[in-house]
Amino acid sequence: MGPLRLPPLPTTGELLRLYKLRALKQLSQNFLLDPRLCSKLVRAAGRLRGAQVCEVGPGPGNLTRAILHQGAARVTVVEKDVRFLPTLEALRDVSGGCLEVCIGDVLAFNMEKIFASQDSPASTWEDPPPRAHIIGNLPFSVATPLTINWLEDISLRRNAWVEGRTRLTLTYQLEVAQRMAAPPGHSQRCRLSLMCQNWCHVRHCFTIPGRAFVPPPDVDVGVVQLTPRVVPHVPLPFPLVEKVARCLFSFRQKYCRRGLGTLFPQGVRDALLDKLLKVADVEPTLRPFQITMKEFSRLCHTYQAILDQQPHLAKYNYRDPDSDDTMDNLDSNILISSASA
Ligand code: SAM
Repeated sequence: MGPLRLPPLPTTGELLRLYKLRALKQLSQNFLLDPRLCSKLVRAAGRLRGAQVCEVGPGPGNLTRAILHQGAARVTVVEKDVRFLPTLEALRDVSGGCLEVCIGDVLAFNMEKIFASQDSPASTWEDPPPRAHIIGNLPFSVATPLTINWLEDISLRRNAWVEGRTRLTLTYQLEVAQRMAAPPGHSQRCRLSLMCQNWCHVRHCFTIPGRAFVPPPDVDVGVVQLTPRVVPHVPLPFPLVEKVARCLFSFRQKYCRRGLGTLFPQGVRDALLDKLLKVADVEPTLRPFQITMKEFSRLCHTYQAILDQQPHLAKYNYRDPDSDDTMDNLDSNILISSASA
């Protein structure tokens, strides 16, 4: 099947004027109305011919048009702002049955049905990524928490990842895009870098100047592609990896020893911290942003080995002032070997 040729439609800009659709500040709406940039963003997703696509935050449908033009077999759009229904329905009516419009909050939207059994036989996790994509130009405030939620879904192979390694191509505030892709030693390296890179290959595809959007945001925008890894660097449960990453970066400018200490209650902090760093073979004077994925993996595995012996340590929360009081009967003389890490 060749790419879909949409019958002549008013431009998205004309539709916005026709329906008097002003960008809503509270939904951080910044539209990308230049068809060439829409097409460039959609092409960054890869080959869409015959693919299943979920577009998040379609707004008036400008990116949706580009996705349909690229020959996607089926496109489901999830939009929170009901004002866009008429423009999206107009697009649906000329799409030849390719477009489904859902009005709702993508943060509460389960994509399992969209992506389940689209290939027969169903692909496995180890196969190359399926012909399934998530694409979107979401508000920055939604894109980051949503990405964290989706990383957890990827780790559990649920939601859009029930049938394989569905890729995501999304826009972020440029600084966030740079953080997601930042390698060890990079000044932008942070918790988000570790989380994204643990479960996905991260590619900062290109940057769109803020002035290309209507209305223009104050910052430039990075287009990022995430491809789930067959095997994560740290194949441990999401909450544990998230906790070690969060604690590690809780004192960003200090030696990593300072932040990692927040994993442990006061009474056993120094002893368990020494053990953690020794068994994980991590130099205590490294800064958090210098830690490689291998070192991070050893830290997580060693912390897991400590929890295996003292499970209630998992509940310790440095930020909770009462947490130290609930941590009785802890033994800092536990033995952990590098083999268990
Ligand atoms: N895709 C259009 C474009 O590129 O011009 C619109 C982009 S605009 C930055 C973000 C869109 O996401 C808006 O249409 C907004 O209403 C929608 N949106 C915001 N929060 C959302 C949510 N939680 N769920 C679904 N859509 C959301």
